[in-house]
Amino acid sequence: MLKFISRERETPAKRDPGARARDFGEIYKAFAKDRAAAQASRCSQCGVPFCVDHCPLGNDIPDWLKLVAEDRLEEAYAVSSATNNMPEVCGRICPQDRLCEGSCVIEQSGHGTVTIGSVEQYITETAWEKGWIKPLRPAHERTQSVGIIGAGPAGLAAAEELRRDGFQVKVYDRHDRAGGLLIYGIPNFKLEKQVVTRRTDYLEDSGVEFAPNFEIGRDATLNELQAQHDAVLIATGVYKARDLVCPGGGNQGVIAALDYLIASNRKGLDASGRGCGDARRGR
Ligand SMILES: Cc1cc2nc3c(=O)[nH]c(=O)nc-3n(C[C@H](O)[C@H](O)[C@H](O)COP(=O)(O)OP(=O)(O)OC[C@H]3O[C@@H](n4cnc5c(N)ncnc54)[C@H](O)[C@@H]3O)c2cc1C
Ligand code: SF4
Repeated sequence: MLKFISRERETPAKRDPGARARDFGEIYKAFAKDRAAAQASRCSQCGVPFCVDHCPLGNDIPDWLKLVAEDRLEEAYAVSSATNNMPEVCGRICPQDRLCEGSCVIEQSGHGTVTIGSVEQYITETAWEKGWIKPLRPAHERTQSVGIIGAGPAGLAAAEELRRDGFQVKVYDRHDRAGGLLIYGIPNFKLEKQVVTRRTDYLEDSGVEFAPNFEIGRDATLNELQAQHDAVLIATGVYKARDLVCPGGGNQGVIAALDYLIASNRKGLDASGRGCGDARRGR
């Protein structure tokens, strides 16, 4: 560790612009093994790690960096997934520059932050590749059921934790696929859809039931849902767009960004013909 003195900060390489123009896939490649270990070894293992302090999840960042530097990746995954239900998603899209990486002591001292997000992504992609992420098999099945409204990251994280504890879980969403804004908001060049469907497939394999195309308020009332379950969690996100207050803001052809993104992402998904559960079924 402490290699920041002699080792420069490096990010994963960008994919070739020609290829990116054709597929709209993620911009950055993943780290290769030796590069991830080298970058992780730049960490100074702070006694008071400001990266952890500024992580909303309180991730044990210095511990997993040390484990990566020592090539102990399965343990690194165990540590990183202990506080995060989707580390591979956070590794890609979390605003690290304003959180862990922005507060990294090495960044503040002018050496360039440890590339925490890219290492986090590397750990979890390796875990998927090696088969370390296995469907949940709760030690004790409970009879109580929980209905979750909303299959965005909040609903999915709750579903995993409840299922781990043995509850019977059913997730309702008005869209045709699970994932919320991870599917219908964030574009592919930041987060490819198969990264999200892989997680929802895993939850299905763990016994979580999904009810897509089911809108609470249209297909059932909240009271009806409460009658069906022992508890109901509302995880419906925030969908109120901010109006564009400027000259021409109301002109014809000006549309809300989220309306555009939902339509654009749906087109991309329809073109690929893949929906929730398809990645696992090999379609
Ligand atoms: C363009 C864009 C880019 C973003 N980029 C980033 C980024 O880089 N990094 C980052 O950290 N965050 C980013 N975000 C924010 C991030 O996507 C959200 O913070 C996150 O998805 C919120 O999760 P959630 O589960 O609370 O809500 P959502 O993801 O919004 O999920 C809520 C779900 O509830 C469903 N729902 C709502 N009402 C009902 C109902 N009545 N019945 C049934 N289902 C219902 C919705 O269909 C939806 O699937 C971005 C968001 C957008 C739009
Ligand atoms: S703040 Fe930076 S150097 Fe310190 S423990 Fe966190 S990642 Fe390592």
